[in-house]
Amino acid sequence: MNAPLAADGIPEGLKGADDATIEAKVRAADVSSLRAALYQLTGDQALREMPIDRDARAAPDRMAPPALQREEDKEEVRRKAVDALKRVRDGSLKVPPPPSLEEYGSLAQIFFSEDLPESERRFWWEEFGVQAVPRAVPMDDVPAPLREEFNCIVIGGGMSAISAGVLLKAAGLPFTIVEQNPDLGGTWHRARYPGARVDVASFAYCNTYEPFYPWEHNFAVRDELVTYFKHNATKHDLWPHIRLSTKVTSLRWDSERKLWKVGVEGPKGKETLEARFVIAGMGLFGRVSVAQIAGMESFKGRLMHSAEWDESYALAGKRVAVIGTGSSGIQMVGPLSEQAKTLHIFQRTPAWIANMPGYDQPIPDAQRWLCANVPYYRNWLRLTTIYGIGDKYGTALDIDPNWKEPRSVNAANARLRDALLGYMKSKLGHRPDLLERCIPEYPPLAKRLPKDNGWYDAVLKDHVELVTTPIERITEKGIRTTDGKEYEFDMIVLATGYKTSEFLLAMDVQGDGVALKDFWAKDGARAYWGMTIPHFPNLFYLYGPNTNGRAVGPASWSELQVRYALKLMKKLMKSGKKAADVKEERYDEYNRELDRRLDRMIFSVPGRSGYFANEHGRVVTNGAFYNREVFAFTYEPEISDFRVS
Ligand SMILES: Cc1cc2nc3c(=O)[nH]c(=O)nc-3n(C[C@H](O)[C@H](O)[C@H](O)COP(=O)(O)OP(=O)(O)OC[C@H]3O[C@@H](n4cnc5c(N)ncnc54)[C@H](O)[C@@H]3O)c2cc1C
Repeated sequence: MNAPLAADGIPEGLKGADDATIEAKVRAADVSSLRAALYQLTGDQALREMPIDRDARAAPDRMAPPALQREEDKEEVRRKAVDALKRVRDGSLKVPPPPSLEEYGSLAQIFFSEDLPESERRFWWEEFGVQAVPRAVPMDDVPAPLREEFNCIVIGGGMSAISAGVLLKAAGLPFTIVEQNPDLGGTWHRARYPGARVDVASFAYCNTYEPFYPWEHNFAVRDELVTYFKHNATKHDLWPHIRLSTKVTSLRWDSERKLWKVGVEGPKGKETLEARFVIAGMGLFGRVSVAQIAGMESFKGRLMHSAEWDESYALAGKRVAVIGTGSSGIQMVGPLSEQAKTLHIFQRTPAWIANMPGYDQPIPDAQRWLCANVPYYRNWLRLTTIYGIGDKYGTALDIDPNWKEPRSVNAANARLRDALLGYMKSKLGHRPDLLERCIPEYPPLAKRLPKDNGWYDAVLKDHVELVTTPIERITEKGIRTTDGKEYEFDMIVLATGYKTSEFLLAMDVQGDGVALKDFWAKDGARAYWGMTIPHFPNLFYLYGPNTNGRAVGPASWSELQVRYALKLMKKLMKSGKKAADVKEERYDEYNRELDRRLDRMIFSVPGRSGYFANEHGRVVTNGAFYNREVFAFTYEPEISDFRVS
């Protein structure tokens, strides 16, 4: 997929390609990506002038960049692309070097059909994937002995912690990554249930320092994801910095020496490590939430949480129950139904499920060929996939105060609901008994929106039953529902989610004169832009409170957050200081604005997911800010936001 250019600048796969092959491959191309790549290659002004459709989208639930309106223009792009590729192959058209930021601005104009403001342009340029480590913070101008004093402990071994490692390595700072699991991968190390895969396209669910990994699937499966993270650790030489099977149990700030004492437990027993900085990349989904159902301990069969899947358990011929219709529960039903003798889905709340053609399919060969052989096509294709989860998607999340329909919150949200309902009807329309029980009351996006991994097809199977009567208790042999009906099972799967609102409360954290549990006692976890907390100096959170998905997602955001931390560290080094904690007034201002915005967002409507909110009823996982705001904020930390010493 990532065939390098040969010494003569001609992509290897293009060299041997005959005209018919080029024409066939180009026919399979995404036209928006092809048009931008072609313009980059040829500078053909006619490509710029083609009329575009600003509201183009693949479906209401899938945003896409503005696309060409007219079929004849799309055909023209393909024709010109074939012609240009033949010229590249024959050596008469040279592949241009990667663009500078300024050149990119002009190229991006054709792709986005608008002049991007400065910070957005920079974001998309970093995502474009032409720099080795776009979010690196060079520290060559800081004397090495000073850098040695700024050592760092990174907690976690998932996508966020690995990004921290990559950027710390690039900065030349000393660091140790401490992960409690025996291997890297974070979420994906543990998610081993049948069908576990990412529901953001693979091209988007990857980091800017390794954006063109040869993914096998459109939506990478669990094993691919773990391999990807380990590949990144190897490529960036992180392994010597990693301590696996080691759990961080406590953090204590030593205000005299201005460093963190980090309690860990691992193969060497209990230890206290020291670091000037701590970067917490502990993820949201690290601690399972086991639903407390009466009689659970009496079950004689196999009871398994979805995050503690035992792959050695043979499913074939087993009578299986799945409790829960969250993302994992929805994702596993299709694959489980192919193996189990019988499958019962216990549903308390129905879920909206999105149609995603090609969700479980490998990336087509033609697409691989195009990515490898059409210069810069893969870069634009990556932006096309990220665009769909960028700020544009965010508009469906805002409550329109004048909106009267109770099951949606605004016009975009209503269109999304119609599309999802239409898809559901296309699957279950002939089974009104099922359809009626599958339509959620809540507006789509008030909970995480899973992709259809064969769920609808599965519930139609003869050996699969959807049970919507509430569970009364788990018995020795299975499950009893409140109507007195007894079901017998060999295995019960608890797809009941995670403790997502604990954040750092899972460990003992003592800051500068205050314990975190006390500081957060009022209404749970909060952090300044999700990253820093007053009285907890030099502690940075990745994927922290209120940083989950208004837009884009952890791959990008954790990189932005690490860059913010590194830039702040550099400012401290340059000013001869050693510690910084955010001022309370800044933290309070930020939280007031966060709360004000969240109140007007879909996460605050009745029926929203338990996983977004904490025990105080406050949304603690999801964010309210647009990607462009987060990018602009994190790009340059303001030292005046902090108390420094
Ligand atoms: C089943 C599932 C599917 C998902 N699908 C998607 C998706 O499709 N798209 C998407 O954008 N996101 C998805 N997510 C969210 C996913 O968590 C993030 O995309 C991403 O993996 C977050 O990376 P992270 O490194 O921040 O956290 P994690 O991957 O959770 O890694 C955190 C790591 O920290 C370690 N850790 C925690 N506490 C300690 C401690 N005290 N000491 C040492 N180590 C510790 C954990 O063991 C873990 O390995 C999914 C999550 C789950 C659970």
